[in-house]
Amino acid sequence: MSHAAISGDAARAEKGRPEQATAPSGGSEPHAVGSVGAAPPVVYGASERPPRGDYTRAGADYTCPQNYAAYTAADHDTYRRLYARQAALLPGLACDEFIAALPSLGASDHIPRFEDINQRLRQATGWEIVTVPGLIPEVPFFTLLANRKFPVTDWIRKPEEFDYIVEPDVFHDLFGHVPLLFNPIFADHMQEYGKGGLKAHGLGACEQLSRLYWYTVEFGLIQQKGGLRAYGAGILSSSGELQHAVQSPEPQRLPLDIERVMRTRYKIDSYQQTYFVINSFQELFDKTAPDFTSIYQRLQGLPDIATGARPAEEEEIVQH
Ligand code: FE
Repeated sequence: MSHAAISGDAARAEKGRPEQATAPSGGSEPHAVGSVGAAPPVVYGASERPPRGDYTRAGADYTCPQNYAAYTAADHDTYRRLYARQAALLPGLACDEFIAALPSLGASDHIPRFEDINQRLRQATGWEIVTVPGLIPEVPFFTLLANRKFPVTDWIRKPEEFDYIVEPDVFHDLFGHVPLLFNPIFADHMQEYGKGGLKAHGLGACEQLSRLYWYTVEFGLIQQKGGLRAYGAGILSSSGELQHAVQSPEPQRLPLDIERVMRTRYKIDSYQQTYFVINSFQELFDKTAPDFTSIYQRLQGLPDIATGARPAEEEEIVQH
């Protein structure tokens, strides 16, 4: 993950999540806080800063218990205010599945206990959330996803970071990512992504795959009956980018094309200039189902596409 700074509340980081991820899920012992502790991720491309978060808390798979006792009244209040502001923005901008599932997070006026969410989530799709101290390296990340475990950072931003945070915190991870894990198709897609990540790692193609994550799971748009909507967590957890992504005439919006996405660089410190649009989660699942091995090979010979580049021959989706 890397990030230098992520836009808006957004972020899960740029290459972040994708490239970072966590580890060998060590099986079923997410709370194995070993005596050793996990090494902090060292993947940061764009940032010199060490990741925030105390990695001595984490086990070999980078998970740890949610440090619920550490939350102060001010932390709960920050969550409450972030949640209230963001929930009010969703109608007409967030996809139907997200809005329908949001109440499944439970509490909106304080940081929820992850275990409470898990009781509902396991039942809905067999997923569970696990706690991590912050961004994690890519192999552990992919491993967790491949086992239907989604890593959620437990700490929350400081009040002075209300509008802008450089690394994903509990608000971004929970509010942005977890509601769609209640959707069966999206949930299956996330597991396939984790498996695909482990494969990409072996093929040296994590950069390509992380772009796919960025432009779908973090910043994806979906065309629904009511019009264009957001399903990407980076958009849905950002007060500023939500309206920009869905309604502004400025950014380019293209139909999801796997190779175009994999060639397209992205910025983590500003609103996106390009968004990719799907028509259904089934389309996302189907377009990512083919074996990417030959795609990765082909792309090695092709140049990247710069952030915001708008080749004249490309048909953009015009939004009204
Ligand atoms: Fe994220």
